[in-house]
Amino acid sequence: MADLKRAFICGWPVEHSRSPMIHNFWINEYGLQGAYIKYPVSPPDFENFVQNLHDGEFLGGNVTIPHKEAAFKQIKNLDPVAKRLGAVNTIWIEDGEIHAANTDGYGFLANLDQLAPDWDNSDKKQKTVIVLGAGGAARAIIDAVKSRGFTNISIVNRTYSRAKKLADFFGKTTHAHKWEELTNLMLDSALLINTTSLGMEGKSPLEIDLGSLPSNCLVSDIVYVPLKTELLQQAENLGLKTAEGLGMLLHQAVPGFEKWFGVRPEVSDELRSLVVRDLEQSL
Ligand code: NAP
Repeated sequence: MADLKRAFICGWPVEHSRSPMIHNFWINEYGLQGAYIKYPVSPPDFENFVQNLHDGEFLGGNVTIPHKEAAFKQIKNLDPVAKRLGAVNTIWIEDGEIHAANTDGYGFLANLDQLAPDWDNSDKKQKTVIVLGAGGAARAIIDAVKSRGFTNISIVNRTYSRAKKLADFFGKTTHAHKWEELTNLMLDSALLINTTSLGMEGKSPLEIDLGSLPSNCLVSDIVYVPLKTELLQQAENLGLKTAEGLGMLLHQAVPGFEKWFGVRPEVSDELRSLVVRDLEQSL
């Protein structure tokens, strides 16, 4: 037991997380002596939790809602993405020090690279990228899309002031828009991404008409419960290419696993099927 290498997912609540399923699948797949566990930590206890990571009980782990910003504030050794975004989702111990990164944007990009390899072709980079939503996920995704050279990103959000704040944060390639402007924005867009929680099981539907999107526009939804959201179904019915959100969840886990266990894991069909089966059972 003493040699068992352990990693965690820390959140409040954390019961719903699929991360243990993903990481424990890889631990078995690669024959490792390890475990990945759920670790509920309330906000007042989070600072102590991070401090205690120096004790060496864990190799590291993931942090999720509501601790991503608190982790950013407390941890000094940050990767450039976490530093830019002000939020952390992956922690590891290196040479006795606590390090942290944000891999959400990496997960988003890796998923699109896998499902739609030509999504960032050079002829698309001047076209509009529409981001629905202005929360934490939108911030990570805009940063990632920008890193691939897209120069015209439109944020559309229910609360305009949040879209404006986010657009100002990213500077001149990113603009805020009201929901009423969507149809016009769609006319010249290469990519539309839903980063709101609309369309998720138990939440309100995302009611938009994709009819004015060009036929080569890619539609991506980061909501993955259900796996095929109404947005993706509508896009598919229109003959548009789609990218579902589960892949983002699976790919964002890769860098952390490699840091903790020293193996770069594969996002395989078998892993995907395992998580899909679990999602279907939960519906
Ligand atoms: P967040 O920071 O709370 O942001 C939520 C966003 O959804 C905001 O833009 C909010 O608009 C919008 N929204 C919520 N309810 C709405 C409603 N009734 N009508 C219109 N807009 C509404 O959340 P987040 O962390 O960015 O996460 C957003 C979604 O992405 C969640 O469903 C989460 O599960 C999913 N997610 C998926 C992955 C993945 O790996 N696939 C990763 C991260 C997140 P306002 O600003 O107007 O409130």
